[in-house]
Amino acid sequence: MNELLNVNEVSISFRQYVQGLKQKNLEVITDLSLDVREGEIVAILGSSGSGKSLLAHSILGILPENANQQGKIIYKGQLLDEELKDKLRGDEIALIPQSVNFLDPLMKISDQVIGDCSEEEYPQKKKKQEELFKQYNLDKDVEDMYPFQLSGGMARRVLVSTALMNNPKLVIADEPTPGLDEKAVAETLKHLKQMAENGVGVLLITHDINAALEVANRIAIFYAGYVIEIALTSDFKEDGENLLHPYTKALFKALP
Ligand code: ADP
Ligand code: MG
Repeated sequence: MNELLNVNEVSISFRQYVQGLKQKNLEVITDLSLDVREGEIVAILGSSGSGKSLLAHSILGILPENANQQGKIIYKGQLLDEELKDKLRGDEIALIPQSVNFLDPLMKISDQVIGDCSEEEYPQKKKKQEELFKQYNLDKDVEDMYPFQLSGGMARRVLVSTALMNNPKLVIADEPTPGLDEKAVAETLKHLKQMAENGVGVLLITHDINAALEVANRIAIFYAGYVIEIALTSDFKEDGENLLHPYTKALFKALP
């Protein structure tokens, strides 16, 4: 499998200000390296606040203003700099965001799912949006709604549809399933798996260990901004013998 994404010794820190004066840098991610190959699902498991969403946002080029990033991210052999991130975001590289606040409150749902497109492209895009809505069990009248009219689960399914709209090559799914019913969870995982079978690389950030064990080729464990363990899913499935770090052991011990 060809390498798609290579995160190479990335560190992310925040400038901290008190009453407008810079105080210090707070490092949240330290020397993090990770790669995703074409057709591969890499799951990221880790405690809240360990830097998972920040890594996702850094790949997409949507880090907050006060963040400072070091290290390199390579996409298909090219340095993923700000210019390339801007070009690929929402297109070749798509995010299923953790927060439903990513929806624009003032924009009709179908318009934001379809995104910017030319008049010639529109009929094809519209068809794709309708297919995705059918697949994710979103009624036709959702198209004309605004975000405040959606339930949490509907908003999540809209975010999934938006991310998959432009047939991305790399999908970063940041906890895509909480709040979804079992059918929608299974549908989302099935869809991610199908995409991987078609060569798409998937970074699946999740707290659902069973989902990771079910669909991922490899699992990376995050802890306090470090990747403390990364291995083939089969290594995690064995009875804990191959798990080195106490956090990983504790995580997997909690499984029924
Ligand atoms: P998670 O693994 O739960 O997705 P995040 O990546 O969202 O964690 O956050 C990692 C850490 O970065 C958290 O401790 C959070 O407080 C910190 N952080 C996130 N955004 C900012 C910000 N804009 N300014 C300062 N710290 C931040
Ligand atoms: Mg997060």
